Amino acid sequence: MTAYVEDDISPKTSASPYVEDFMAEVKAKNPAEPEFHQAVFEVAESVAIVLDRHREYRAARILERMVEAERLIIFRVPWIDDRGEIRVNRGFRIQMNSALGPFKGGLRFHPSVNLGILKFLAFEQVFKNSLTTLPMGGGKGGSDFDPKGKSNTEVMRFCQAFMSELFRHIGADTDVPAGDIGVGGREIGYLFGMYKKLSNEFTGVLTGKGLNWGGSLVRPEATGYGSVYFAAEMLSTRGQTLAGKVCLVSGSGNVAQYTIEKLIQLGARVVTVSDSNGYIYDEEGIDRQKLDFILELKNTRRGRIAEYTEKFRNAVFTPISAGAEFSPLWDHKADCAFPSATQNEINTRDAKNLLQNGVFVVSEGSNMPTTIGGVNQFIDAGILYGPGKAANAGGVATSGLEMSQNSMRLSWSREEVDQKLRDIMKRIHGTCVEMAERFGTPGNYVNGANIGGFLKVADAMMDQGVV
Ligand code: NAP
Repeated sequence: MTAYVEDDISPKTSASPYVEDFMAEVKAKNPAEPEFHQAVFEVAESVAIVLDRHREYRAARILERMVEAERLIIFRVPWIDDRGEIRVNRGFRIQMNSALGPFKGGLRFHPSVNLGILKFLAFEQVFKNSLTTLPMGGGKGGSDFDPKGKSNTEVMRFCQAFMSELFRHIGADTDVPAGDIGVGGREIGYLFGMYKKLSNEFTGVLTGKGLNWGGSLVRPEATGYGSVYFAAEMLSTRGQTLAGKVCLVSGSGNVAQYTIEKLIQLGARVVTVSDSNGYIYDEEGIDRQKLDFILELKNTRRGRIAEYTEKFRNAVFTPISAGAEFSPLWDHKADCAFPSATQNEINTRDAKNLLQNGVFVVSEGSNMPTTIGGVNQFIDAGILYGPGKAANAGGVATSGLEMSQNSMRLSWSREEVDQKLRDIMKRIHGTCVEMAERFGTPGNYVNGANIGGFLKVADAMMDQGVV
């Protein structure tokens, strides 16, 4: 991943004195959590105008309440590795906001996980879930456990140890976790098995479940597909489609894989894919056969993306070191970019490179992949820039559909779920466009998403009193 200077993500001064004071308090109360400050600043900047026009929200201290989690749970996760040695990890669940429904949001297993990163993700999740129009509050959780290089039995033992504490805090009507980085179908299976054993209940307490035990069709595909549907909606405002467009994709996990699949289906040419060691540039484009190789490499063999060039010799692998000043992945001629790996993977310099290379559509599959400096580049350039909380909301929306199917004890067909996903992404796009216009910044999807997400939660909090 590209390095970013603190300045690039740390909130700049705001034109609004209210936001200035508010951010000073947020930083003082939540020290050493730069990603959380970044996520809060972006929302505060967007909704400042709403708070000016609607003094009732300010009087009710809605934003001040939104940045305070309803509940933070931090716990010890001891487990035993294959050599019989005791390992100790830290587990978290951030129950951020339940104004619209049960807490809902993924679990991330990655060594970089800490309280600040999960708070930023949980905060973003509140607005994202609101945008879907489904009845879901926002939450996030996870652990600094690294599934990479662990055996299946080690992953299982860790998941069981993690759930042996988490189970008492979650439930189908309380808090419904799902997957995120490092948590896919395998981990959800182990987590669900342990929850069921401890609670003696078979309920829809997790989403992303296996198809034959309560999962929903299209849930694995939903985040990637949704991000492509969102890009298609943005392009349609300029009378264009994805057919023939050259696309840069980062990551090679769940979101990247299904982003690539949908782009191939829609006739686009995807020329990049990556993991934390580096990226592949394949000028001819990744086709179905090459994608199948990536799926097998990443989902079954759990190998490194560099192997792609051993099979497809015309492609080039370039390593990216953790401290690099910019990512060469974002420095190729293209029309569209789909960041789908992790937060702050596009810094100011990367954003400038994208613009210089002709990219005019950015649809964020990952959460907060662009630094504040990078976002400003996109907004100033007036490109079609879909922020993660809108563009990648298809995943949680389909989790919401999984919850509905679990409650009704029935399963919808692939076509039904996919159609609902398309409709939801279209509606989210419409909300962004409408809100951006209503509050004086037409075409600014960042403001549109933040304001659209905020209003629904704010109104529910007003109705529910000071709780
Ligand atoms: P995943 O299946 O675990 O894949 C993550 C991919 O990103 C892997 O290729 C991984 O490479 C790469 N990556 C992770 N951390 C990195 C880092 N620090 N630097 C460079 N590359 C890194 O996870 P995912 O579910 O696709 O999630 C990807 C992004 O989408 C995350 O931001 C997540 O929050 C967001 N998101 C996911 C969903 C969902 O439904 N899964 C929904 C909404 C948003 P390595 O294998 O080398 O680590």
